[in-house]
Amino acid sequence: MTSLDTRVVVVGGGVTGVAVLRDLALRGVDAVLVERSDLGTGTSGRWHGLLHSGGRYAVRDEESARECIEENMVLRRIAPHTIEDLGGLFVLLPSDDPAYAERFVTGCAAAGIPVEELTPAAARRREPLLTDGIEAAYAVPDGGIDSWSLIRSMVADAEAHGARVLPRHPVVGFERDGDRLAAVRVRDQAGGEERLIGCEWVVNAAGAWAGQVGALAGVPIEMIPGKGVMVVMASRYVRGVVNACRKPADGDIVVPQHEVAILGTTSVQVEDPDDVSVDPAEVDRMIDMCAQMVPSLSRGRALRAFAGSRPLYKPPQQADQATAGDTRAVSRTFTVLDHAERDGLANLFSIVGGKLTTCRQMAEKLVDQLGERMGVSVPCRTAEEVLPGADHGSHRLAGPLAAVEQEKEYGTLLCECELVTTERVRETVAGGLVELEDLRRRLRLGFGPCQAAFCAWRAAAVVCEQGGGGDRDLLAGLARFLQERWRGQHATVWGDQARQALLNHAIYRGIFDLEADHQDEASAWASGGLDWSQAVAPRSREQLGGPGGSSSGAVAPRSREQLGGPGGSSSGAVAPRSTREE
Ligand SMILES: Cc1cc2nc3c(=O)[nH]c(=O)nc-3n(C[C@H](O)[C@H](O)[C@H](O)COP(=O)(O)OP(=O)(O)OC[C@H]3O[C@@H](n4cnc5c(N)ncnc54)[C@H](O)[C@@H]3O)c2cc1C
Repeated sequence: MTSLDTRVVVVGGGVTGVAVLRDLALRGVDAVLVERSDLGTGTSGRWHGLLHSGGRYAVRDEESARECIEENMVLRRIAPHTIEDLGGLFVLLPSDDPAYAERFVTGCAAAGIPVEELTPAAARRREPLLTDGIEAAYAVPDGGIDSWSLIRSMVADAEAHGARVLPRHPVVGFERDGDRLAAVRVRDQAGGEERLIGCEWVVNAAGAWAGQVGALAGVPIEMIPGKGVMVVMASRYVRGVVNACRKPADGDIVVPQHEVAILGTTSVQVEDPDDVSVDPAEVDRMIDMCAQMVPSLSRGRALRAFAGSRPLYKPPQQADQATAGDTRAVSRTFTVLDHAERDGLANLFSIVGGKLTTCRQMAEKLVDQLGERMGVSVPCRTAEEVLPGADHGSHRLAGPLAAVEQEKEYGTLLCECELVTTERVRETVAGGLVELEDLRRRLRLGFGPCQAAFCAWRAAAVVCEQGGGGDRDLLAGLARFLQERWRGQHATVWGDQARQALLNHAIYRGIFDLEADHQDEASAWASGGLDWSQAVAPRSREQLGGPGGSSSGAVAPRSREQLGGPGGSSSGAVAPRSTREE
């Protein structure tokens, strides 16, 4: 067993853990971050992409609303390259309660969120695809943010200040010495061996998994994983974020992100944060609800659907309060747990709850407390120090196309949907990334409408050309990549997307014969439990039951039954247990 020593081990490589690592590094504290998988593969890679203005909390949760608007402004300053300055609207429909809109405006003022009322006509000029039936609209400084880009920049800054990052090193236990944790035991997934990391302090930043990591250290932390399903549409539909001005509910937000729009979201309490399954009925419901604000969504092409687990925390004093699965009342603010006071474990801190938008502030609060105990008096600098990569202003949708045009790189595109050139893939592979899934997160390969029909095998060829892994590894990596793409598509296979899936199936199964060589990994992709002859039969949601059909009505059950997608039972309506909201 190899070992290594540091002052602080941070467990969890989502935005929170990475922000904690950066804060420690900027204060001169030696620290190592361990992540069970790749960075940003937990909730920070399975979320909505909204840089909150705080408007979504303005009515019920002033503390969260205030944190969001403060950090919205800080992130715009230190990480503009990760942000698309979209702006957002809250729209009041005739079926909504006008009294809610009044409370919204008052709540925004109380939390310090700038809000401007627009006439319905002005709102429609700004968002031409909005329904023409809106009663009022309120503009707020919502934005879009790319979490992987933020994570990469924070890691680069932390590493430049001496921090170390160990992805694919899950924590499997702790060595305890009396009332202290003396070392963290991790498994090196590449080498297969266990390593001990000796340390003075441990920070548990494992998000929805914080309870599991706490259990390994012998302390109880009651997390409430709140699953949220999101639907990815094949184009943007809206120029800025569109929210419903009502008490949070399923299908009340549309966020344009890169080339697509993301509709969201459900909020269902689940037992296991790794449960990211999607019921096709949830997809239908999300589209139907969001189409109340943007009607053309009901005729649009849904590319895929995915889910993530909110890291909601239930304090012990609320343990006996029954939620009946409905945790709308659970605040979206965050909590720092000092386990010395709470559980008699002298050198463990946990950080739970919060939002992606507030990750920097969460880290600051935690490191302030930890620093006091460690005797480190260096003040926090993370709100002032601009992140690496922040020299080109905010992200612009047209940026990648402008770059391709300027360099005349038309013939060298490896991924036409996301405008990724072969040269960029080569450079990234040469930099050490050979797993296609990692390339996807780094370069956005396979996110677009064709869902990797062409880019996955081209990228595999680049990996091969650069000597990255043997043939079998490469095909297994390709199968893993396709399996992940398929997992997101099975609930959206109708109409054009069914035809796309059939083409992809023909390419990867028919030409590459993936199933024959990689039975276990590829067969699920190749068959996916899907009856292909039926999958192509329905040509649109309209034919399946007409636009605007409710999920409990004609559209959902018929599409699910006809398509017979994996995991798609048509009997239940969308699960009622709610952990609302974003
Ligand atoms: C559906 C949905 C939509 C959302 N939308 C928004 C939004 O629009 N805007 C916003 O601001 N916030 C949003 N959020 C909230 C936000 O995504 C989360 O608050 C944030 O990503 C949590 O980051 P984290 O680092 O705490 O957790 P995570 O990103 O989950 O990181 C925890 C990490 O710990 C790792 N880990 C677990 N166990 C171990 C172990 N044993 N050893 C080592 N590592 C381990 C996991 O692999 C994971 O990578 C959304 C959340 C959901 C679920």
